[in-house]
Amino acid sequence: MNANTPSSTASGAISGAIGVDVCIVGAGPVGATLACRLAAAGLQVAIIDRAALPPMEHPAFDGRAYAIAAGSRRLLEEAGVWQRLPMESCDIREIRVTDGRPGRPPSRLFLEFGPDDADQPFGAMIEARALRVALNASLYATPGVHVFAPDEGTVTRRPEGAEIRTASGRVIHARLVVAAEGRRSPLREQARIAVTRLPYNQCGIVCAVAHERPHGGRALEHFLPAGPFAQLPMAGTAEYPNLSALVWTEGEKVAHRLAELPHEAFAHEIRRRMGDEWLGAVTPVGQRWVYPLSAQYAQRYTDVRLALVGDAAHGIHPIAGQGLNLGFRDVIAMADILMDVHARGGDVGAPDVLRAYQARCRPANMLMLAATDALERLFGNDNPVLRLARDVGLAAVNRITPLRRSFARHAMGL
Ligand SMILES: Cc1cc2nc3c(=O)[nH]c(=O)nc-3n(C[C@H](O)[C@H](O)[C@H](O)COP(=O)(O)OP(=O)(O)OC[C@H]3O[C@@H](n4cnc5c(N)ncnc54)[C@H](O)[C@@H]3O)c2cc1C
Repeated sequence: MNANTPSSTASGAISGAIGVDVCIVGAGPVGATLACRLAAAGLQVAIIDRAALPPMEHPAFDGRAYAIAAGSRRLLEEAGVWQRLPMESCDIREIRVTDGRPGRPPSRLFLEFGPDDADQPFGAMIEARALRVALNASLYATPGVHVFAPDEGTVTRRPEGAEIRTASGRVIHARLVVAAEGRRSPLREQARIAVTRLPYNQCGIVCAVAHERPHGGRALEHFLPAGPFAQLPMAGTAEYPNLSALVWTEGEKVAHRLAELPHEAFAHEIRRRMGDEWLGAVTPVGQRWVYPLSAQYAQRYTDVRLALVGDAAHGIHPIAGQGLNLGFRDVIAMADILMDVHARGGDVGAPDVLRAYQARCRPANMLMLAATDALERLFGNDNPVLRLARDVGLAAVNRITPLRRSFARHAMGL
């Protein structure tokens, strides 16, 4: 079988068995990056996704983007994905954290991270469609990756190994199965791994805005009583030279109502929250998306010959733009462990390997989940005493340079 051509599809019904080190189910950003990273280190990897994975398509601009932390960017470079991005990314060089109310100027106490806090950009903004194209192209171009899409797999796991039968008629033997199917992971359910869910009764409105003045690489996290409002700098286009992404939290009903407003009224609501002192007049561009927000975590990350990664293992509030970055941290940890075991000729799906993966990732991920949950509760509150306390807290962190730098390093995933 030619591993690098998109030939193994459900309609193809190709028969025959292959043996791989790792079979990944789910080729979202986390699963696809893991596949490329492991194969780049010499492991044989199969990856199955129920959706097609077109490697060349440039879908139209839709306004969705990811904030990629510095550590995640390094991973994408090592996996050979970053080099294939079909569009420019935009470095985040400054982050301003403020507190306020819609229609009023922000509090005068604020926190600002700038070039003095790190020797490299805090991260980069990339359009979601650009990452998708680069990932799909990398899957087909990386020797050692066997792509099955659109396809599905029926997984049987035993202590001695796993067998996956695809709907297209292939049989895959793997030492380890990785569940990267996102929040509603069927493999996690099949393994009876319990999940704890924290509903927020909030939605995130996601869209892009063109603005009059350049953003200069500055991001804004403005805390409002209904939830955070984030402006994230994006690379401009010929049509919109000054462009930013917005991720903006509101109660469920309000979010849907706002997202359906006519253009001018929607722009007015954005101005009420973001102000126009910094970027000048703003114009919404592209589509508006509304996502229900919740957090969740799996009680364990492993089972016999199985490991969970990314949103299959944890989902967090997008308050700090860390959801995907947390998934990339799983990939970094898993790749480190599996590459080491593979280099020593060991079994990448052995129980001690899986224990090492869980021990390295789960406590740190739980800490991030707790921190984003606490931030959401602390800032999503209009109590005047709490407001004063958090504003004083922001200003205090702003004055203590080592503390500010330590926060910055953590958010950058370094
Ligand atoms: C409003 C909002 C804004 C966000 N902004 C950011 C941000 O700025 N930065 C950031 O880091 N994160 C952000 N996130 C979080 C981020 O989107 C997720 O963490 C990320 O998409 C998780 O990636 P994943 O690969 O684990 O799962 P997913 O992206 O969910 O991918 C799962 C894949 O598995 C496939 N699949 C599912 N079931 C099966 C099956 N049975 N068989 C085969 N294939 C299957 C699907 O087709 C899909 O391709 C945001 C989230 C929200 C809601």
